Amino acid sequence: MKNVSQEFGSMVFNDSKMQARLPKATYKALQKTVRNGEPLDLSVANVVANAMKDWAVEMGCTHYTHWFQPMTGGTAEKHDSFISPSGDGVIMEFSGKELIKGEPDASSFPSGGIRATFEARGYTTWDPTSPAFIRDGTLYIPTAFCSYTGEVLDKKTPLLRSMERLSSEAVKVLHLLGKTEVNRVATTVGPEQEYFLIDRELYEQRVDLKLCGRTLYGAMAPKGQELEDHYFGSIKTRVAAYMRELDEELWKLGVLAKTKHNEVAPSQHELAPIFTTSNIATDHNELTMEVMRKVAEKHGLVCLLHEKPFAGVNGSGKHNNWSISTDTGENLLDPGKKPEENLQFLLFLSAVVKAVDEYQDLLRITVASAGNDHRLGANEAPPAIISMYLGDDLGALVNSIISGGDYHSRDKERMQTGVDVLADFKKDNSDRNRTSPFAFTGNKFEFRALGSSLNIACPNYMLNTMVADELSGFYDKLSGAEDMEAALKALIRETLTEHRRIIFNGDNYSDEWVEEAARRGLCNYKSLPEAMEHYIDKKNVELFVRNGIVTETEIRARYDIELEHYSKLLNIEALTMLDMAKRDITPSVISFVKELADAVAVKKSVSASLSTAAEEKLLQSLSDKLGQFAEKTEELEQAVAAAAEHTDNLDRAKYYRNTVFALMNELRVLGDSMETETSSDYWPYPSYTELLFGV
Ligand code: ADP
Ligand code: MG
Repeated sequence: MKNVSQEFGSMVFNDSKMQARLPKATYKALQKTVRNGEPLDLSVANVVANAMKDWAVEMGCTHYTHWFQPMTGGTAEKHDSFISPSGDGVIMEFSGKELIKGEPDASSFPSGGIRATFEARGYTTWDPTSPAFIRDGTLYIPTAFCSYTGEVLDKKTPLLRSMERLSSEAVKVLHLLGKTEVNRVATTVGPEQEYFLIDRELYEQRVDLKLCGRTLYGAMAPKGQELEDHYFGSIKTRVAAYMRELDEELWKLGVLAKTKHNEVAPSQHELAPIFTTSNIATDHNELTMEVMRKVAEKHGLVCLLHEKPFAGVNGSGKHNNWSISTDTGENLLDPGKKPEENLQFLLFLSAVVKAVDEYQDLLRITVASAGNDHRLGANEAPPAIISMYLGDDLGALVNSIISGGDYHSRDKERMQTGVDVLADFKKDNSDRNRTSPFAFTGNKFEFRALGSSLNIACPNYMLNTMVADELSGFYDKLSGAEDMEAALKALIRETLTEHRRIIFNGDNYSDEWVEEAARRGLCNYKSLPEAMEHYIDKKNVELFVRNGIVTETEIRARYDIELEHYSKLLNIEALTMLDMAKRDITPSVISFVKELADAVAVKKSVSASLSTAAEEKLLQSLSDKLGQFAEKTEELEQAVAAAAEHTDNLDRAKYYRNTVFALMNELRVLGDSMETETSSDYWPYPSYTELLFGV
């Protein structure tokens, strides 16, 4: 890419293109919708659609698609061409109606029983707040997705609603505090994305990676991540070429790809963009994951976004950096130089603290997935217990507020390097705490418990909704106060005192914390079924309904979809393990065992004095293990068959977790142990050494 600033956004129908291509009045009307959330007129949409189409056709497009985010977790698209019959030929056409509304046959998208399959109608509606873009000769139009009867069937609609909700509640509070110039507030997100890159040829030989995205068997390589030499290590040529192309493709799509580096595990990497509004950040993160996979194909690689592709080394997560800022350019979570005097900051901080404490279960639920179950609580990702880290300075300030003591903020210290040629610089006021699931990092919160493949819409709409709800409560308490400063101080103190249990600055990986958290009454849901059970708790349903984000029916649908999805995933994994056991592993070990037995017999026939001790020992060991492996295979097979007896979604998910998954782990231990004793000439799959060090 020769000129990044010219090519950035070249595939996006962005603001400058709209300004250049739309009549002034249309542009202004559209801006009102984008900036202020005002409804859009069909006449405006017609003009926009035509300009969009002209641009897309100039860029070589023949098709457009409404791009949406159904409950499957990924994105969905159905392509329509622009052609329209004219005389004996065609012309390229695109109307405002087509831009605004699409009607994909929605019968096969999960709806959690909201719709029967005969009620197939579903609508996609243009989301003008996220710009359209071009990929592979198609114009992509970001949309929201709902059913014929209006039920929300996607992840974007609740996110957009939660953003509006937070904006209106925050604006009300800010107006009380005298900031009447603020009209809108937006949440901002910068998601850091981890991923693995492995060689495509090796990937093709592993049915587990192809079907499940993770290895279901695989003995650990002699070397893992213990030397910590991969973290921030020099980037291999092949990976660097991949990363360069990935950046370029993302830049063309207007994604602010900023940082890239090697992560802790071998073959693991990370990409972080510059933050933007939650809605666009969500679309961009979905795009980033897709482009990551596509670009890998061109380089003979495969990008794995599963949370735990390999046992024994770190899995992949996603850090959701989140903040709130006003249309006047103020970050509401920026403490400023003197946080102790910044009541506005302390009020918003209190709202977040209260929200995270009261809805810690929802935050845990929103990051629950079959993949993430392998990480949370496994000493590599934050634990399944949600708590907040505020850092030393802010932590001390909060303590002084609660105790009524004095607090004086420290000036930033200068860091003295002790080397003349190195410039001294100002230190950050607090160090990082890498173990905290929800950490304050200077002027934003970093929610670190997300799995790498998660659609970030969910954690963000939950976060926005719960904070909006707390702000609404604050507004009610503060409005009408005669002495606003005194009322604010009292409310901040009361809130922080009441919710101090959620603040924890220590080591979240320690056993003491698990005990301490239990004493504090914090929840610790170790797996998806355990967590999901609380999705439909009364207080959670009420939160969403009260704030107009989703209805009770929709929440119940989401609950069912998640549980069903979990059981289906585990079922696929179990079936894949059985398939590998029966058709590959067992026959391979039998062949190798036969070779050993033949070797013993041949040696004995040559001379009774030849030692066959080594062969016999191995023969014995592998024969024993093979027997156990066969028994465990049968046990797992029966357990999978018995799953059908569990008809309730929660009950079935728990059964998969407690019975099927447990047996899968036992089967794997036996399989991996056989791998370490079987000749690599016979073992049917590429080893962890090849997979992790093969690029
Ligand atoms: P870290 O402290 O995790 O190393 P950075 O300070 O570089 O990282 O930020 C990590 C991510 O946080 C980046 O994606 C960055 O754009 C994002 N970020 C920074 N400020 C904000 C903000 N106000 N709101 C949301 N995200 C932000
Ligand atoms: Mg970070």
